[in-house]
Amino acid sequence: MNNGNPHIVIIGAGFAGLWAVRTLSGKNVQVTLIDKNNYHTFLPLLYQVGAAEIEPEGIAYPIRSLIRKYSNIKYLRSEVSDLDLDSKTLIANGRKISFDYCIIATGCTTNFFGIPGAESVCFKLKTLDDAVIIRNHILTCFERAAFCTGIERQNSLLTFTIVGGGPTGVEFAGALAELLYGPMRKDYPEYDINKARIVLIESSSRLLGMLPDALSSYTLKKLQSLGVEVMLETSVENITPMGVKIKEGATVESETILWCAGVKGPVEASGWRIPLAKDGRITVSEDLRIKDYENVYAAGDAAWFEFNGKPLPQTAPVAIQQGVMAAENILRQIKGSQTLPFRFVDKGAMVTIGRNSAVANFAGMKFKGFFAWIIWLVIHLTNLIGFRNKIIVLINWSIDYFLFERAVRLILPSCCNEPGFVSCLRRRRDKQ
Ligand SMILES: Cc1cc2nc3c(=O)[nH]c(=O)nc-3n(C[C@H](O)[C@H](O)[C@H](O)COP(=O)(O)OP(=O)(O)OC[C@H]3O[C@@H](n4cnc5c(N)ncnc54)[C@H](O)[C@@H]3O)c2cc1C
Repeated sequence: MNNGNPHIVIIGAGFAGLWAVRTLSGKNVQVTLIDKNNYHTFLPLLYQVGAAEIEPEGIAYPIRSLIRKYSNIKYLRSEVSDLDLDSKTLIANGRKISFDYCIIATGCTTNFFGIPGAESVCFKLKTLDDAVIIRNHILTCFERAAFCTGIERQNSLLTFTIVGGGPTGVEFAGALAELLYGPMRKDYPEYDINKARIVLIESSSRLLGMLPDALSSYTLKKLQSLGVEVMLETSVENITPMGVKIKEGATVESETILWCAGVKGPVEASGWRIPLAKDGRITVSEDLRIKDYENVYAAGDAAWFEFNGKPLPQTAPVAIQQGVMAAENILRQIKGSQTLPFRFVDKGAMVTIGRNSAVANFAGMKFKGFFAWIIWLVIHLTNLIGFRNKIIVLINWSIDYFLFERAVRLILPSCCNEPGFVSCLRRRRDKQ
């Protein structure tokens, strides 16, 4: 596709990368979008895949379908293994690709903060693979507990621990509580489901630290009413396959530990000789360019953008707005105009807790309960990419809401049920 137009490479088809693509579509530039997966994932609903609420296909959309109407955009399925900003080249599928401009939008990765055992034992929730792995694992725990005669083993199989009381931890805990004490209660008459525990561990004194106190307190009460044991001001000392040892002395015996306690910059960036902030994100200047490299931008979760002395949060609105701005600044550069500084338009934050309850904070206005939940549903459904996906998710939500059922309770692929609990998917993930 060499037609003499400047060549822009975008690495990552998440929110930042896709919105950059949309901005550059139909312009006099040639764009290569590179992503290791051939689909875009709508991460805000990932926890619902993990909690067997919706199918993975409901929140993913094929990249080629998204770009096929744009003749100046090409997609390459590959993991970028090296990037050389000086020579303006990268390596993808073993091939060297040159570019005039580049946007790095590779997202972020889980931060285990060096807690012993956390990385090797815990499940994480960052990709569609992760969500399917955790879903299979949870369902497998129920099957194993149904066969298990030892009461201690049964208890540890039915104790689900979540580390981190931010939005992902809270949303997952709520969804899991509704799964356990709803459909699973009906499915497993073999044992007393009231013995199943969901433990949410948070090191600070409140949940959802980014929201006002009143909303944190509401969230705490709501989760507790759903049956979640919330342990605040509790720090994890180490993790073993049998449980979580907390600094205050106790151990939570649990064979399912989900780590939702933090993220850091993309792993590959550390090998790309790029200036990084202390959490591994790529340091960018006001116009989203990387210092000393006037044609290379970073956007979204991968970028460390400081505003008023603090980095912007790693959220979808930040990623979308930065993706658009990085693309617009490249178009300005091509025209010979000045790039513009990025200014984030903050529309607020919202988190769902469970049926009929969510919390939201829009420009200082606080909402909680049913009204916030309806806003949450509408916003997520309208922002989900693809008409078919919206319908699939709406059907699943309706079945869940009106029939108190979860439609997606298959352990699939079936090899995930193998003995020893090391599922094939998990081993595959570990090899990556
Ligand atoms: C479970 C969960 C729940 C969330 N809930 C919310 C929410 O409710 N509201 C909200 O605003 N935000 C939420 N977020 C955060 C939000 O999803 C992210 O901020 C947003 O996805 C960031 O977009 P991005 O484009 O920077 O990165 P991503 O969306 O992560 O996309 C990065 C892309 O880069 C690709 N990639 C990575 N490395 C390479 C490589 N080397 N080569 C090729 N491709 C590569 C990946 O495959 C991926 O497609 C949530 C995140 C998670 C994980």
